Amino acid sequence: MPAIKLAIVGVGKIVRDQHLPSIAANSDFELVATASRHGTVEGVRSFTAIDEMLAAMPEIDAVSLCMPPQYRYDAAYKALSAGKHVFLEKPPGATLSEVADLEKLAKEKGVSLFASWHSRYAAAVEAAKEFLASTTIKNVHVIWKEDVRHWHPNQDWIWQAGGLGVFDPGINALSIITHILPKAIFLTSATLEFPENRDAPIAADLHFKNAEGVPVHAEFDWRQTGKQSWDIIAETAAGNMELAEGGSKLSINGKLTFEAPEAEYPSLYKRFAEIVRAGQSDVDIAPLRHVADAFMLGRRKFVEAFID
Ligand code: NAP
Repeated sequence: MPAIKLAIVGVGKIVRDQHLPSIAANSDFELVATASRHGTVEGVRSFTAIDEMLAAMPEIDAVSLCMPPQYRYDAAYKALSAGKHVFLEKPPGATLSEVADLEKLAKEKGVSLFASWHSRYAAAVEAAKEFLASTTIKNVHVIWKEDVRHWHPNQDWIWQAGGLGVFDPGINALSIITHILPKAIFLTSATLEFPENRDAPIAADLHFKNAEGVPVHAEFDWRQTGKQSWDIIAETAAGNMELAEGGSKLSINGKLTFEAPEAEYPSLYKRFAEIVRAGQSDVDIAPLRHVADAFMLGRRKFVEAFID
């Protein structure tokens, strides 16, 4: 089967860390172009704007959109309108409405749209889903606490409206729990802490329940120095489950039961090739919907200014 001719838009941190090595290792794709105002990839034809790239290289089959979420819709609209398959970095957009519009456009154009959620492909996520399906869940506690200065230095967009603040990592936890919990959950209350000089929250405390009243409590905080936490703990009839380190390790009653090498982005590109070849789309907006719910229902608290 011929390789899918792929272009990347928004060459920055995640492209260099994850997309480039995953694409290079996947024979389903051939990276043929980039469009980025400053970033380029050695040996690949580069453009500074997506319009210019799409006009100059009609042979492009698909594009991966890796710029900050506030700028994703315009690029996705142009790529889909030109008949290209589209891979959206997470979060898939700045609003729910724009993602719905892209989904509709992809359908009209007969191309694939992929709203990627890399954390869903963390090594132990499927094992956790299987375990939870086999028992009765009593409660769930999500602890996603990291040091923003370490992970997001000088990323101004992340603090601007639409950048999501602490929900930028927090949505990864939401992408896992919406995948592994057997029943849908709903937000019942939330507190969002906004630094007085920023438009996006630095911390969020979220309470959900499902239709049977099973509580799910999520704590997101960007002020964590020292040990970082990306853990999901569930108390169940079959014992305590801990899905730790961003979904990579599963323990039941303190005993490690599953771990495997990290392969989130290689798995995303495998999935993208699969849906392109099958003529399907994969757009689950549940994680983004919970973030929108938190902004709708959450109490706002202003906290000390954050200086990078
Ligand atoms: P980034 O490096 O700050 O941004 C990516 C690139 O987007 C930049 O290098 C820039 O390239 C372009 N860009 C920045 N501002 C723009 C604007 N106003 N208009 C158009 N393009 C702009 O961010 P990142 O960390 O790679 O994150 C990008 C996306 O990937 C985010 O949605 C993030 O949530 C997701 N992600 C990030 C990570 C991570 O560890 N960093 C992990 C998973 C997912 P040019 O200046 O060359 O245009």
